[in-house]
Amino acid sequence: MDKIVNVIGAGLAGCECAYILAKNNIKVRLYEMKPKCKSEAHHSDDFAELVCSNSLKSEALTNACGLLKKEMEMLGSIFVEAAYNARVPAGQALAVDRDIFSKYITDKIKKNENIEIIYEKVEDIDKIEGIKVIATGPLTDEALMNSLQKILGQDSLYFYDAAAPIVSRDSINMDIAYWGDRYDQERGKDETIEDWQERLKNTPEADYLNLPMNKEEYEAFCNELINAEVAQLHEFEKREIFEGCMPVEVMAKRGIDTLRYGPLKPVGFTDPRTGRRPYANVQLRVENKEVQSFNLVGFQTNLKFGEQKRVFSMIPGLENAVFERYGVMHKNTYINGGKLLDNNFCLKENNSIYFAGQISGVEGYVESAASGMMVAYSIIKRFDGEKITFPEDTMLGSLAKYVSTENKNYQPMNANFGILKPLEKKIRDKKEKYGILAGIAQESIKKFKEECLK
Ligand SMILES: Cc1cc2nc3c(=O)[nH]c(=O)nc-3n(C[C@H](O)[C@H](O)[C@H](O)COP(=O)(O)OP(=O)(O)OC[C@H]3O[C@@H](n4cnc5c(N)ncnc54)[C@H](O)[C@@H]3O)c2cc1C
Repeated sequence: MDKIVNVIGAGLAGCECAYILAKNNIKVRLYEMKPKCKSEAHHSDDFAELVCSNSLKSEALTNACGLLKKEMEMLGSIFVEAAYNARVPAGQALAVDRDIFSKYITDKIKKNENIEIIYEKVEDIDKIEGIKVIATGPLTDEALMNSLQKILGQDSLYFYDAAAPIVSRDSINMDIAYWGDRYDQERGKDETIEDWQERLKNTPEADYLNLPMNKEEYEAFCNELINAEVAQLHEFEKREIFEGCMPVEVMAKRGIDTLRYGPLKPVGFTDPRTGRRPYANVQLRVENKEVQSFNLVGFQTNLKFGEQKRVFSMIPGLENAVFERYGVMHKNTYINGGKLLDNNFCLKENNSIYFAGQISGVEGYVESAASGMMVAYSIIKRFDGEKITFPEDTMLGSLAKYVSTENKNYQPMNANFGILKPLEKKIRDKKEKYGILAGIAQESIKKFKEECLK
């Protein structure tokens, strides 16, 4: 097999992927539509443009994104190298001068003899022969999407993200929360309290955790919700997103009872503490097989992250909630990785096509670059006739696993400790737990590098 790879898109994922391939003596054809053609959010002529914030999140290893950057650094990431080169003061966060950051990567890519840059907008994927890595990002345009749709099928592409926040299980107050599905959990008309309690005891873990609210709690929550600060949407995002999905704060503005008749409907539940139907009921849906994380059902939101923490922590049971992912609403093109991809980000049905970056189902700058790195190493090993699996106890491996695992509520995912393989021993202290997980992950990456990437 000729060692040539076509990478489409010189963004965060595409550059990381191309650079690692090239460093490993694989020829790369890197297609980029800029500067001739730019999406609504891209302005610079350089590669690896940071389209919004200049923060690459925390550096602390007890932070999921900090750990991810560390793992990438250990495996030779140009993204992390460029970030340290372009660093500006921002406390614990790794923030960068965006121009220096992009320029650093652009120069390295342009100078690399193994990389041929083709300034062209790819519209038909079938016209490119050989191995292809699609890294065209969350704003991939219609022509390419149509061409991809023919390969992937109609219902496997999504065009915006309207995700609810996710909280970690061990941060939920279980003195308040109770397990149960609507109607199954409710005390039956002819059921004695004792029989009902016995029944609940015997079915402790259902698909949902519930957080009951009384009238005062509900009204106080709604009041804060309707007055909370929202994040700005870009002009190009407003139409598509709001037509598709209504944020919880907009629903709350329609009237004080709207949420009680919608996602917070209490019908079909009995609060185990009172033996009565609650005034309102927030449902949390299990997010992963290990039952470590839950999403807030119906809480798609456009509130600022700080406001989400403040307002959603008013829900009884979430007073100390750790938010593993905040809700987002933005234009975002991505595929249903859980259905379509293997854990090397390669299409199960067409092994010449890989996806990297936001379009593959990861969320965030660092995560996008990380997926580009994983695709590169997967292809390098493929040329050696091998298939690799990134270890599950690392942040890289956990993202690969998340992206390639079927999930009927598939949503893009950022790095968080909820997707990492859990410790066997329960540790209550969050910092201590994350510290131990980070130690295991680094050891695991070291071993993986020595044994699998040599
Ligand atoms: C408006 C917006 C704001 C965001 N803000 C943040 C943020 O603050 N923090 C954060 O962590 N994440 C943010 N994200 C999410 C995500 O992290 C970024 O979009 C990130 O840049 C994704 O990396 P990528 O490599 O997948 O795509 P991109 O970095 O967008 O790279 C894609 C590249 O492919 C090129 N391209 C596209 N189509 C073609 C084609 N047909 N032919 C040739 N070239 C093509 C593009 O010009 C671009 O250079 C934001 C996303 C959006 C849309």
